[in-house]
Amino acid sequence: MPRSRPRRGTGGRAGPEPKAPARPLGPSTLAVHAGEPRPKPGHALATPIIQTATYTFADTQELKDHFEGRIDRVEYGRYGNPTQRIAEDKLAALEGAEACLLFASGMAAATTALFAMLSRGTHVVVTDDSYRRTRQFLNQTLHRYGIDVSTVPAGDYDALEDAIRPTTRVLVSESPTNPYNRILDLERFADIGRRHRVKTMIDATFATPYNQRPLEFGVDVVMHSATKYLGGHNDLLAGAVLGARELIDGIRGLQGITGAVVDPFAAYLLVRGLKTFALRMERQNANAQAVAEFLAAHPRIAAVHYAGLASHPEHDVARKQMGGFGGVVSFEVRGDLDAASRVVDACRIPYIAASLGGVESLIEQPAIMSFYELTSEERLAIGIKDNLIRYAVGIEDADDLVADLAQALDRAFAPA
Ligand code: PLP
Repeated sequence: MPRSRPRRGTGGRAGPEPKAPARPLGPSTLAVHAGEPRPKPGHALATPIIQTATYTFADTQELKDHFEGRIDRVEYGRYGNPTQRIAEDKLAALEGAEACLLFASGMAAATTALFAMLSRGTHVVVTDDSYRRTRQFLNQTLHRYGIDVSTVPAGDYDALEDAIRPTTRVLVSESPTNPYNRILDLERFADIGRRHRVKTMIDATFATPYNQRPLEFGVDVVMHSATKYLGGHNDLLAGAVLGARELIDGIRGLQGITGAVVDPFAAYLLVRGLKTFALRMERQNANAQAVAEFLAAHPRIAAVHYAGLASHPEHDVARKQMGGFGGVVSFEVRGDLDAASRVVDACRIPYIAASLGGVESLIEQPAIMSFYELTSEERLAIGIKDNLIRYAVGIEDADDLVADLAQALDRAFAPA
């Protein structure tokens, strides 16, 4: 008897959601209320942190009822905890997904989901501009287990389709991509997968369900680093996969074995952070647009990569499938690695740090933060330019962020 059982509902604890809606609820209402039982244990308003490793059974009959699916409850911490389930149901409601599964990090979500969908002798196709650790997992780790990976340029749908083999099981892409903010046409991507009977998976960390809901375009699996916008406060690590219940339950079964579960406290922080999700996203979208427009008009800037700009090569696709363009602006300064470092160092508001999506603005040079040990030529070969800066805006005031960038560019390029 498998110990990790498919789950149904929210563990029997959820009362009615904020009354039966006469029309679909908006993202802010869902972010505040979805997934939360009414009333909560102890009549608490806040979601309780159920801080326990294991759960007790009244008698052997209850254990049997649990294993035979007659009751829905939790059993042991590696198979899930009640705080996690509330966070999962909230995210599923926001994403419009049948089911959600949380993990200890975004990478735990991506790797466990892919391991669940792949086996020796199978093949994956991935688009090229993507988070470095995802690239490494696909190109190095999976290879060691006899799984082939083909990489195709993001936006080249003929190359994507041509790369599919009889052994292909999954097409993987980010949208927007990290760090260049390329936008995939989700409908085309999902259609290619459907025609070839291959699953499609989108890492939608940069977009979040506030800006884009890939399942509505026919994508099979959505993945997020919940560490970013979903948590929103740079104080937790978590990841999520979302999709059809059967598929997610399969991944849940593997998670029960491999064990990369989210702990109750991180799940609580996620529920807490999500309360302001829609407000934060609205502000971060607006801040990024203001920063992108300022940079695009600045003489020291060679290129700005932001889908909210009409000059972005996939602006029209982005407008069709996104409600907002996200909080990450990548840009190239007119100059070399050191010139870009001078701009980063001259900024006074953003912190220099990896990550994105929290309330504080963060700035970094991908060539240094993520690819430091490579030579300039090696970085260029994988598309990472030395003069590239990634600015992940927070929720500060747009005017302050723009004024800070203006002074930073002035100082960085001032004659010595
Ligand atoms: N996907 C994207 C697009 C990311 O930017 C990151 C982290 O930076 C991840 C996945 C991995 O997420 P985590 O750091 O939560 O493991």
